[in-house]
Amino acid sequence: MRIVRNLKDIFNQEPAVNLLKSALLKNKIAHAYLFTGPKGVGKETAAKALIYHLFCQFSREDPCGSCLSCKKLDKEIHPDFVKIAPEKRDIRIDTVREIERFIRFRPLEAPYKAILILQAEKLNPEAGNALLKSLEEPPSYVIFILVTENIIQLLPTIISRSQIVKFRPLPEKTIKEFLMKYAGYEEGVAQTLAELSLGSLGRALEIAEKGLLEELHAFVKASLSKKAELRFKTAERLSRMERENYELFFYLLTLWVWRSYLKEKAGFPYPMALPEETFKGDPKIALREISQAKTALDYFIHPELTFYTLMHKLF
Ligand SMILES: [Zn+2]
Repeated sequence: MRIVRNLKDIFNQEPAVNLLKSALLKNKIAHAYLFTGPKGVGKETAAKALIYHLFCQFSREDPCGSCLSCKKLDKEIHPDFVKIAPEKRDIRIDTVREIERFIRFRPLEAPYKAILILQAEKLNPEAGNALLKSLEEPPSYVIFILVTENIIQLLPTIISRSQIVKFRPLPEKTIKEFLMKYAGYEEGVAQTLAELSLGSLGRALEIAEKGLLEELHAFVKASLSKKAELRFKTAERLSRMERENYELFFYLLTLWVWRSYLKEKAGFPYPMALPEETFKGDPKIALREISQAKTALDYFIHPELTFYTLMHKLF
């Protein structure tokens, strides 16, 4: 995947990008930013780009990509930059203690020390409160960038101490163009993925790269066949999917249920890439079953059995 080092290369997020560029131009960088918006629309990419602008040794306006700073950022080995993400379910106090140690001393190479916190809503209350202290009186060389899809799950005190930068869902057309231009997809495929992504480029790419549409087709086919053997085999195949893909698989399954319903009840156009067979049951019951299956998997209930049961319950 291409590396984005310049804020101007962030697609279709002009309000956010202009705000950050103007801060750079006026040299008024906030000590804490909170990037908020839906999944996969450029928040993390923009956060990293901002750090390139601040760290590049040659140009603050147009990060060069070839100086030592840029190269170290490319490899995420710059000593003045840390990236934090939840380890399992949350971000814990130990991690915040590490951040405290990290910011205690002046930067080694760059003009700032930058801390990027992904999925900031996963800070547990203890960690959130500890972080608050660093956000309240940070040393002048520190910049925090918190990224979240769920701003309402953050501590209000964290929100109030950060400058909020809003990112918006991307139009279908933008996603389609990106997929064709940078990811090499044919127009038809790009169009379909854009339609399924609900404004999230990240989601479109994930669906494509992980072959999740194929999994959905296999699931629907096996469910409809009512053949126990095929169902078992498919459930077994699905259970081998990486855990992190479950969420997106269920997203597609839910989308299929809804789009089937809209097609049957209101004659809405139905995306071509979804299984030819539409869902005929009650969508409310289906959504409840899907949500129960998700919960079961979250608690590590036997995945094979969970998928098998779900097939049985939906059809
Ligand atoms: Zn550079």
